[in-house]
Amino acid sequence: TRRPLIAGNWKMHGLKPSLQEFDRMVAAYDGDLRARTDLMICPPATLIATLAAAAGSSGVAVGGQDCHANAQGAHTGDIAAEMILDAGGSAVILGHSERRTDHGETDAAVRAKTLAAWRAGLVAVVCVGEHRQQREEGVALDLVRVQLAGSIPDGATAENLVIAYEPVWAIGTGLTPSVDDIAEMHGAIRAALVARFGEGVGGGIRILYGGSVKPANAAEILAVADVDGALVGGASLKAGDFIAIASAY
Ligand code: 13P
Repeated sequence: TRRPLIAGNWKMHGLKPSLQEFDRMVAAYDGDLRARTDLMICPPATLIATLAAAAGSSGVAVGGQDCHANAQGAHTGDIAAEMILDAGGSAVILGHSERRTDHGETDAAVRAKTLAAWRAGLVAVVCVGEHRQQREEGVALDLVRVQLAGSIPDGATAENLVIAYEPVWAIGTGLTPSVDDIAEMHGAIRAALVARFGEGVGGGIRILYGGSVKPANAAEILAVADVDGALVGGASLKAGDFIAIASAY
């Protein structure tokens, strides 16, 4: 059985006062919630060390939002996976659609970054998902299968890899796919992981849903087969919303 993971992606939001919001999440993560569910926040890189220190031994994980493929070098503005680890992070989001769009990240680039995450000992949270037009054209499943094949290196385990299915048209829009469409996609991702990595590994890798997850829709989405948690954007900025989502699993 897969342990659910509720992960927050703060994107380019967060200054020092955001620590207070994080502290409220940490305080709420005990008892039943901690027993049932993994919790993680991926803040801007500037806050990773601060949040990791605040998390202490609470069990709340902290992660990055991107890393460079190399461990070090002349790459102004980039951050190595080793630096995320050094700052106290234990995971990194890779291949988010905003990076694929804003920074032209290809599946091959995401694959190289995933290897970098593993080299450093981080969990890679690899994002896939179709654009609206691809959904309308009926090629969403094929497109995601191609992204998975190209973005995930050999060597995946149930511990070092998490997949996040994020339909691009659902991100920040308030729109979500039907539960049937989420079930179909997550089933297809599960089948692809099992076909490639075997039942043991492929059956153990967690598949998160992301895109307009809110307290109001979390219970319905998190109840779908092969939805092992959520990658939450906007609603992860407020402790009340984020804990409500985590509690809905
Ligand atoms: P929203 O939850 O704001 O739609 O963002 C989803 C997302 O992109 C998380 O990575």
